[in-house]
Amino acid sequence: MAGPKIAFNEEKGLLKLPADRGVPLLNHTLAEPRLPVEAALRPPSFADFTGQRKTIERLNVMVGAARSRGEALSHILFSGPPGLGKTTLALILGTEMGRQVRITSGPVIERPSDLAGLLTNLQEGDILFIDEIHRISKTVEEYLYSAMEDFRLDIIIDQGPNARSVSLPLNRFTLVGATTRTGLLTAPLRSRFTLQTRLDYYTATDLTQIIIRSCQLLEIPFETAGAEEIARRARGTPRIANNLIHFVRDFASQRADGIITQAVAAAALELLEIDQNGLDEMDKRILRLLAEAYNGGPVGLGTIAIAVGEDEHTLEEVHEPFLIQEGYLQRTAQGRILTPKAFALL
Ligand code: ADP
Repeated sequence: MAGPKIAFNEEKGLLKLPADRGVPLLNHTLAEPRLPVEAALRPPSFADFTGQRKTIERLNVMVGAARSRGEALSHILFSGPPGLGKTTLALILGTEMGRQVRITSGPVIERPSDLAGLLTNLQEGDILFIDEIHRISKTVEEYLYSAMEDFRLDIIIDQGPNARSVSLPLNRFTLVGATTRTGLLTAPLRSRFTLQTRLDYYTATDLTQIIIRSCQLLEIPFETAGAEEIARRARGTPRIANNLIHFVRDFASQRADGIITQAVAAAALELLEIDQNGLDEMDKRILRLLAEAYNGGPVGLGTIAIAVGEDEHTLEEVHEPFLIQEGYLQRTAQGRILTPKAFALL
């Protein structure tokens, strides 16, 4: 019998870099404005990865054990706001295990056949990284259960009286999922990950280290105080820090002598309207709206989104976690409310 036809859409799957790099690339935009630069700045090993010590220790234990048993890593779920290093860690896991990493994202796996195409192409021990795994469709998710647990895919082929179920064996792979919101993951899916680990915002000290490393890699002249100034205003997020470095470098070359000093960094970030607390224009717009139009709230997310002109996802996944962690905002059942700290700031 001919095997089932799997309609795997290459365009929706993966794009691999030339073999000598061996590193996969996202083939769709995931709010990653500077993909090539990001790739260059990604730490290649645990040793180069700053911060997230607990997570790194847990991963080191798992990698060591899997390698000594000669087995595939068990499934891992990373959660936390965008830009904290979830993709980077998945790539490092691939390097440490000496296996390929294939990168995709929840919303791109539209049909079970997309998933089948991805899974049947994995070799023993390969890592499938699914970003935004909470956005995977319900149907696809159900196929994922048996794939993760029994390394088997039961797919129905044909329709009507000819419909039959075919069980496809899969190589033992590792699913690394990333989500900005663990709460949105269903319990059955969550329970299939052996390790669930949360990435936190980075401390200013860790971010300074990351900024110094990026400046050195990009050969940008800097002073430590300049790196520290950027770190203070980068919302605890390496991706934001790396993006800010580029603007500050441009500013330094246009308005100063090219060196990122503290004064240069501060002036550049003022120009971007990022204040000393790391709050950007949108953060301040949200706080001002709650204070001025709603007397501190509670206000529903939908209302805030319309009033500030930002979509709900971005508000929930990017702005709110930072505002909450910094103590400017609280989430309650009735809506978002401002804290006294936010009133004091405004
Ligand atoms: P996420 O997948 O969580 O959105 P990424 O892994 O894509 O985040 O990281 C975004 C950028 O931040 C990458 O360019 C990466 O180089 C950098 N980065 C993230 N974490 C670290 C870290 N701990 N040390 C150095 N750079 C980091």
